[in-house]
Amino acid sequence: MAKKSLGYVQLEWTCPNCSTRNPGPQKTCLSCGMPQPDNVQFEQPAQETLITDAAKLEQAQAGPDIHCHYCGTRNPAAAKTCSQCGADLTEGAKRQSGQVIGAHRDQPAEPILCPACGAANAPDAPKCAQCGASLIQPAAKPSTPPPLPKPAKRSGPMASIGLIVVALLLCAAAITCVVLMTRTSELTGTASDVSWQRTVAIEQLMPVTHQAWRNEVPANTVLGSCSPKLRRTQDDPAPNAREVCGTPYTVDSGSGYGQVVQDCKYEVFEDYCDYTTEEWQRVDEAVLSGNDFAPQWPAPRLTAKQREAGREEKYVCHFTAESGSYSYSSGDPNLLTMCVPGSRWVLNVNSFNAVTGIEPAN
Ligand SMILES: [Zn+2]
Ligand SMILES: [Zn+2]
Ligand SMILES: [Zn+2]
Repeated sequence: MAKKSLGYVQLEWTCPNCSTRNPGPQKTCLSCGMPQPDNVQFEQPAQETLITDAAKLEQAQAGPDIHCHYCGTRNPAAAKTCSQCGADLTEGAKRQSGQVIGAHRDQPAEPILCPACGAANAPDAPKCAQCGASLIQPAAKPSTPPPLPKPAKRSGPMASIGLIVVALLLCAAAITCVVLMTRTSELTGTASDVSWQRTVAIEQLMPVTHQAWRNEVPANTVLGSCSPKLRRTQDDPAPNAREVCGTPYTVDSGSGYGQVVQDCKYEVFEDYCDYTTEEWQRVDEAVLSGNDFAPQWPAPRLTAKQREAGREEKYVCHFTAESGSYSYSSGDPNLLTMCVPGSRWVLNVNSFNAVTGIEPAN
């Protein structure tokens, strides 16, 4: 995340002696003159206005104030010697800074009602204009920085139990299926005739469209249409990147001012393109079949952009038995020579009435 500064606002502090609200850069209480204590916490005013005054802006940007380690006076960050006692400030303690104070308050603030007399006061009034009572609200808790997104809801335990039950049922069905397929019974049959089928697959060079980032489109292809698409999200700004920022919030600068910042990330869009290449695609097959004992391969006529792409062969021996007719198929051409019509065979037949194996009967 990149931190983006929106500018600076003036914070305020409450005098622990007389409860007067003082502007952040004010080093002694406007009301009672008490010096601002070392450990004072700066607070957000009810309404934060971005500073435009050049002199104030310079102070705000200077960094945390330095406390003189001799007399405790608060000096601006740029000071080399204490304005009060003249001591060298290189050993002085810098005010703490960098704490998130709360979400940036850029909305107009409501007037404050005096808790003592009920009079309406300006949001930044140090004290009640009518009776002089302090206008500090006890519940001036700092608000939290922008909330984090809530984690996605996880599915309940019932859903996972359901999934387990479904998985078990599928498992049981698969096991039953395997058992039925492998459990066989033997019966005797007589070979009656044969059949065969030989197939040659045909491929052709065809235009095929793919998609890729423009810089990853392979050479020697035809570029089609392109459109911008989110490629990555990064911390640093980039040309053509879309800036996505969170809620602005105020950070203590340690000088009575606060810096209003936003956490931003940058969505980089790049061209995502269609491109076309020529690739071998299965387009057709040539099939030859017969019921004789001399199988042939089909000889397809291929065009210039076609090629043969693999062969398949299937041979079937047909049997008759008391309980009906059966057939046994194999990719082995030797099945044709073995399947002499009238020869007797022991057939292994599974629960689906399919022949899983044959052997000559004695
Ligand atoms: Zn005071
Ligand atoms: Zn000093
Ligand atoms: Zn009052």
